[in-house]
Amino acid sequence: MSTARKFPRSAPASSVPAHADIVVIGAGFGGLYAHWRFRQLGMSIFGFEQGSDVGGTWYWNRYPGARCDVESVDYTYTFSRELLDEWTWSERFSTQPEILEYASYVADKFDLRRDIAFEAKVVSAKYDEAANLWTVRTAKGDEITCHWLVTTVGCLSVPKDPEFEGLDSFKGQWVQTGAWPKEGVDWSGKNVLVIGTGSSAVQTIPVVAETAGHLTVFQRTANFSVPAGNGPLPEHRREEVFADYPAYLERLKNTRGGQLWEMQTDKVAAEFSEEEQQQRLRQAWELGRWNIQGCFRDIMQNEDTNRLAAEFVHARIRETVKDPVTAEKLMPKNHPLGSKRMCLDTDYFETFNRPNVDLVDINEEPIVRITETGLQTSLKEYPADLIIFAIGFDAMTGPIVNLGIEGRGGLSLKQAWSEGPESYLGLAMPGFPNLFTVNGPSSPSVLTNMIVSLEHHVGWIAECIQTLREKGIDRIEATRDATHAWAEHTEEVAGYTLFPKANSWYMGANVPGKPQLFLAYLGGFDNYAARCDAIAANNFEGFDLASSKVEETA
Ligand code: NAP
Repeated sequence: MSTARKFPRSAPASSVPAHADIVVIGAGFGGLYAHWRFRQLGMSIFGFEQGSDVGGTWYWNRYPGARCDVESVDYTYTFSRELLDEWTWSERFSTQPEILEYASYVADKFDLRRDIAFEAKVVSAKYDEAANLWTVRTAKGDEITCHWLVTTVGCLSVPKDPEFEGLDSFKGQWVQTGAWPKEGVDWSGKNVLVIGTGSSAVQTIPVVAETAGHLTVFQRTANFSVPAGNGPLPEHRREEVFADYPAYLERLKNTRGGQLWEMQTDKVAAEFSEEEQQQRLRQAWELGRWNIQGCFRDIMQNEDTNRLAAEFVHARIRETVKDPVTAEKLMPKNHPLGSKRMCLDTDYFETFNRPNVDLVDINEEPIVRITETGLQTSLKEYPADLIIFAIGFDAMTGPIVNLGIEGRGGLSLKQAWSEGPESYLGLAMPGFPNLFTVNGPSSPSVLTNMIVSLEHHVGWIAECIQTLREKGIDRIEATRDATHAWAEHTEEVAGYTLFPKANSWYMGANVPGKPQLFLAYLGGFDNYAARCDAIAANNFEGFDLASSKVEETA
């Protein structure tokens, strides 16, 4: 854990004021930074958080083995040099408890809880055009008006409900990785079933297997996973990053993903000999992290290059998993590597060599129902004391739509996005003046280091509000044309890649009935940030600006 100094605990708000200049929804990493950054504007701020404390993703995802898949030295706030100097990460990839402790430390250090109401689920946010104000209400009935509304609700914060027939009748315990009970779960010696094999399951499975009596994993789609290469954070790595941090940060912000990997190259696979290609893949496998996706520049564009990397991973699975039938089932064959988010693991494939672990491919043996005592497939019943659902999230749009947002003329965001989310830069939508969505759909968000992206979004919003105030402008709204053009551009960029070839949550394909389109911007953080800067410099091109006082468009 960190060697950082402790500050007195920052106490939460004791009541909800009638009005604040800015309301921030969410107190995860985006929300905490928003409070810190918006305070610099000298405006009043108030925030709501559904959980009982700060942390967002890291508050809810307490499942065993949960850790970040971005290196700790990069998954860290960059806005305060003092904070950077005070906090020391203990591992290369931080665990959920350590990240949660960091969030709490930041809240204490900057006294951020004082303007936040916790256990306060926002159920509606309505815009009043005449007053140019938003009214935000919580499930408890608290109400506040604000001029600017900023959502920092995360991209993966609405877990999918386990809609399995018979679940109500199950007499054992069932849990969801994305809403893991705070009081913990005991699986030792028990018969455990895990449904799903995405990143959450890939982290959960090896840890649960260590002490479970028996663990059965139900897999619908085999997933690409590579060793994370975790371990204590080496001192030399800290020095590399922090010796000249401004220069390091500059390099970080000039990448497509807000991360620097050892193997990143400008060369396509065809520029290497076959022997060099295999050497690079081997080196990437040994280095861990996302290196395998950085081996060749065309890995996410060229099917042959992608297949080369996929076959390399298949060979590693074959090498690792002793039972050839299980190994074959674990090899992802129906989507390109990286088109579903690749997992970084610690001993995932090795876990299937344990005598107490089995794999069921539900394509061969579909789940029929949950019973009182376990799970019935088309072939047999699997007894269970505990069922762990690691079945994913209503990603990107779910967290924002669930806020019950209504814009001009009562336009509901749910309705506006019924055929897919159109959002200008992932930041703002036509019909919803003065509303900003941090890491919203069609921004780079989940394809980047989220800290880099959220600091950028919050910073852009803060500068926007500041500039508008200086110009006497109090209303900003994305135009339909600019929003539509950005949506087309987002889709076009995705079309140059292999990403749309998978039924992934990036495409909205994991939620029945959800419109399918690529939900994040694939043009790279560096290009995206430059575009946002240019738009701001060009008097917020693509936005309508207005002042309610003089009633004329600026
Ligand atoms: P996910 O990637 O969506 O995986 C859900 C899994 O459940 C998939 O294997 C899916 O199969 C399966 N599934 C869904 N519905 C099912 C059903 N009805 N019956 C059987 N199987 C079903 O969700 P996740 O693992 O929670 O990860 C989501 C994202 O969160 C990740 O991609 C990553 O971005 C983030 N995350 C990050 C970390 C980290 O930083 N280390 C850790 C965890 C999560 P299909 O593939 O066939 O749909």
